[in-house]
Amino acid sequence: MRECIRCHTEMVEGCDLKVQGAGYGIILADSEKIFANRLGKPKVAVCPKCGEVSIYFDNVDLLKK
Ligand SMILES: [Zn+2]
Repeated sequence: MRECIRCHTEMVEGCDLKVQGAGYGIILADSEKIFANRLGKPKVAVCPKCGEVSIYFDNVDLLKK
């Protein structure tokens, strides 16, 4: 369960972020380099009460070096 940082309401998880006008999503990488390791897609949660959008990555094991 993901809680809104603003109003502490339970957020709606599992949304996806898309670039308008194209079918592309976004991807998380571990540096600014073009060939950085791609860690996968971040997840998006939306608060149904205040509209706060939270982008998060649930596979945090990949971030541990
Ligand atoms: Zn909220």
